[in-house]
Amino acid sequence: MKKKTVLYEQLLPAQFIERLNDCPIAYLPLGTLEWHGYHLPLGSDGLQSKAFFIALAKRLGGIVLPTLFLGPDKYISKEGLDYYGMDIHSFDENNPQQLAGSAYHVEDRLFLQMMEATLRNLARAGFKIVVAHGHGPSTNIFRDTIENWENKFGLKLFELWRIGGKGNEGMMTDHAAYNETSLMLALYPELVHLDKLANDSNMVGIWGDDPRTTTEQEGKRVIEHNLALVEARLAEELSKLKWQTREMKYNHMVKKYSSDT
Ligand SMILES: [Zn+2]
Repeated sequence: MKKKTVLYEQLLPAQFIERLNDCPIAYLPLGTLEWHGYHLPLGSDGLQSKAFFIALAKRLGGIVLPTLFLGPDKYISKEGLDYYGMDIHSFDENNPQQLAGSAYHVEDRLFLQMMEATLRNLARAGFKIVVAHGHGPSTNIFRDTIENWENKFGLKLFELWRIGGKGNEGMMTDHAAYNETSLMLALYPELVHLDKLANDSNMVGIWGDDPRTTTEQEGKRVIEHNLALVEARLAEELSKLKWQTREMKYNHMVKKYSSDT
């Protein structure tokens, strides 16, 4: 038997319609390619949010979108060089340094345009709820624009900080520190290298509680906690919604498949 997928890009049209009619929720992982300490992979943001959304879609239903890896962040330009995010946060603002591997920055305005275009297309495709989450500054901008976009597109929009746990009990609430390291240990233990932090007394590009004190079990507990909270909240929202199911019925006489023209 073939495995059922929850990934948008892998669905056949009929499978898409079946999942959409059953549960019209789209999940959008907001990622980056960004320094996450010496110990976590560069794609940590998208990896965490995508894996969480896949687990959620398997429990509740819905469809997981491909990860958006471009995102906004604090930005300065100095002597012709770009610095952003942890380049600035981790160093003296007057002496920023480019951290290895970071390649994700776009202006707020462009990010908003990409998000708006995504939501417009998802509403057209028949979704009623969109959950977007991941990289901090991306999630922040999304959250601040929720009301606007809900009115504009007739969607219900959520991010996980509002409907999930808080602090170290939440989803991606620090940067490469205790929380994100817990989640990565639970989801991708083979990609986490805590031994690489042994000689990093400054915790370069890490913001939050000490990542060396967490475990895979802690990450698993936090993920389960959030899955339960978010599933309950979204199920409640679904129960209030009415949506028309879609059909795959077309007029095949409109135009012949056209090698004869
Ligand atoms: Zn992160």
